[in-house]
Amino acid sequence: MAYVFAAPGQAVVPVVGSTDLFPVHRIYCVGRNYAEHAREMGHSEREQPFFFAKPPDAAFVISEGMTGKLPYPGATSDLQYEVELVVAIGRHGSIVPEEKAAELVWGYAVGLDLTRRDLQAAMKAQGRPWEIGKSFDRSAPISAIRPIHLTGALASGRIWLDVNGQRRQDSDIAKMIWSVDQIIEHLSRYFVLAPGDLIFSGTPAGVAAVLPGDVLNGGVDGVGQLSLEIVTAAP
Ligand code: MN
Repeated sequence: MAYVFAAPGQAVVPVVGSTDLFPVHRIYCVGRNYAEHAREMGHSEREQPFFFAKPPDAAFVISEGMTGKLPYPGATSDLQYEVELVVAIGRHGSIVPEEKAAELVWGYAVGLDLTRRDLQAAMKAQGRPWEIGKSFDRSAPISAIRPIHLTGALASGRIWLDVNGQRRQDSDIAKMIWSVDQIIEHLSRYFVLAPGDLIFSGTPAGVAAVLPGDVLNGGVDGVGQLSLEIVTAAP
């Protein structure tokens, strides 16, 4: 037996300080996980964490010291950044209690949950899934992964994003409404977590639109940085 065409390549993310590659299984994202961002999106009540997903090949790897070039995506006029701590999962887990959640964490990265906000808003208004707003090609720029043996379990650390040298997002991962361990507890009720999963843990306040020519630099202290230039899409 043979594949009827070449099998898709495995999405991978490099590992800091090594030539090893982290194979991506799934990409999960947490919605509204910082109070100030929830407020800027028009929500005030603490709510149960909720999740959406991006396809594994939405991961757009930007190596350390490089500036990724992202063609402005189609079908939108409101492309927005969301800088996020990304948690890389290294073990299987289902219905994982918060106290055991740390055992699943393999490492951390910095990611951008790029969003076609106009499409997301239209889908929200109609009660439809967010995929066209959230899960498009290259919608998940990500830095190399820093293994947890180099960082320890992270509970705090500045998270920030500059656009053209101006600070736009500036917070601390300690301000997440749901901690990494609590996110894993909740997410693992609905999905079997597996080695290779990436969890984008939510963004702080300050999200806004970007245009071709804009340069984004974001980071999480202790994890790394990521740099991205938005470029005009080829005709
Ligand atoms: Mn997000």
